[in-house]
Amino acid sequence: MFRIRRVYDDATPANKEAIDQAQAILRTQFPGLSRRDIAKLPQQLRNPLKYRFRSILFVAEDPRERVKGFALLFHEPVLHFCYLDYISTAGGRMGRGIGGALYERVREEVLSLNAVGLFFECLPDSPKLSRDPLVRKQNAARLRFYERHGARPIVNTAYETPLREGADNPPYLVCDLLGQDIELDRDSARAIVRAILERKYGNVCPPGYIDMVVESFKDDPMQLRKPRYVRGSTRVPVRTLIPVDRRIALVVNDRHAIHHVEERGYVESPVRIDAILSELDATELFERVQPHRFSEKRIRAVHDDEYVDYFKKVCANLEPGQSVYPYVFPIRNGARPPKDLAIRAGYYCIDTFTPLNRNAYLAARRAVDCTLTTAKLIVEGQRLAYALVRPPGHHAERRSFGGFCYFNSVAVAAEYLSGYGEVAILDIDYHHGNGQQDIFYERRDVLTVSIHGQPRIAYPYFSGFKSEKGSGTGKGYNMNIPLPERADIERYRQALRTALGRIQRFEPEFLIVALGLDTAREDPTGSWDLLARDFEVNGRMIGSLRLPTLVVQEGGYDTTVLGINARHFLTGLWTGAYSQD
Ligand SMILES: [Zn+2]
Repeated sequence: MFRIRRVYDDATPANKEAIDQAQAILRTQFPGLSRRDIAKLPQQLRNPLKYRFRSILFVAEDPRERVKGFALLFHEPVLHFCYLDYISTAGGRMGRGIGGALYERVREEVLSLNAVGLFFECLPDSPKLSRDPLVRKQNAARLRFYERHGARPIVNTAYETPLREGADNPPYLVCDLLGQDIELDRDSARAIVRAILERKYGNVCPPGYIDMVVESFKDDPMQLRKPRYVRGSTRVPVRTLIPVDRRIALVVNDRHAIHHVEERGYVESPVRIDAILSELDATELFERVQPHRFSEKRIRAVHDDEYVDYFKKVCANLEPGQSVYPYVFPIRNGARPPKDLAIRAGYYCIDTFTPLNRNAYLAARRAVDCTLTTAKLIVEGQRLAYALVRPPGHHAERRSFGGFCYFNSVAVAAEYLSGYGEVAILDIDYHHGNGQQDIFYERRDVLTVSIHGQPRIAYPYFSGFKSEKGSGTGKGYNMNIPLPERADIERYRQALRTALGRIQRFEPEFLIVALGLDTAREDPTGSWDLLARDFEVNGRMIGSLRLPTLVVQEGGYDTTVLGINARHFLTGLWTGAYSQD
């Protein structure tokens, strides 16, 4: 088991660690490399101008985040080609699954960059150029590997002229045209070879040598060697699948079904998750990731200790199947909670329809773990992630639950991400995101924005007004956009544009979307009319912010359209995020 991810920079501890491990592989697998060459890897990612190539690093990691292989790719955007600087696995064997998967990932990237081809060096398999039979055999194995994936040496040139006369194993220049039906004309080939030799080997190749090699490219178009190892078609197409690290990482609460309230037409039901999953599974957009467990401290960072203790204890003390609905509320003497745990529920709850039961704590805790798993992926460089969880969380405030919500997963994730940069939360549930507003009301490093049914007619009734703008240092960092009971799509879209404009001005490092789908037509808890195609447009608008984005599932209760709407929103988000890449 391994996954491939792109490392954009060394800005986070996880990325630094991945780069360190890639450098360790370089040291073992390429003992001839100078220390300086190895040490410059982070610089190369950060500073493309200095090295005159854009560097792209892919690592293959096992579930314990050990780097099992990596590929370092250079992209030249003017001449439209890519150069594969290194590709290596920890064990040095390319034929195994990791080497092949990395190479295919590189091909996908090169194709998506609209490059004419991928170039790289490979040691020769001819007895004249490689005298030691053992070394020659290894070289042949590598060339066979590349030939199978579509790459072969360029022939009829002096590229393999050794710098020192008589030196053994001068490399071939190998080219992979990515299965495209194109030929490379002589002038383009010459420009590409010059760029490679001057930029990559300028410090070892004298100018005269470079001129000689460039001029030796006489074939027009450039010719590749006839296949030597693999029979059949010489063109190997790039897989059409979406590369793994460009998919949306999907973490599903695998323990949500234990929280099943079967009374009073309780619409927040387990079938909601299945309805969404069955739609998502029909696409290639998603990559399932298993949830990890995180410390309860992460919850206590945004929720009051007393509330967490109470919630945990009251749930553990309930009989299986027993539900407790809060029914008395401390309008007076709020500081003196009643002794009976069940009666005390009203002390921590904002309504009478969010019951406590034996599994509520466990399910809510797991929803937080799932959301934190996606947040961690985002910190590690994942661009898009979706936590498909229930119970929802956005109505849970620092010291209260309600609206089917117990722990505010979005807020816990925002708090976690705020350790790495500023966070914007966009709540597009039909109901006001009072939880995040309450928790971050006095902070300016987490911007909270919510578009919702106006509180005079919509839950939670006592918050979500336009005038609530944050306080203290957080003043100006909470934005409510309440809309009337009958808001048409034009009005809605205008609100979304306003929200996105505010987020853009804030320039956050990360975006969290509290995704409620109860804005849909016919939703039993909302009054608006959004259709699948509207959700797709909304997703695209949000995706085009091009921010690392974590989507967390909140409300949405009409299970006949819930999945379809979720799929449309996420497809739109993905399209917006990647459309012009
Ligand atoms: Zn809602």
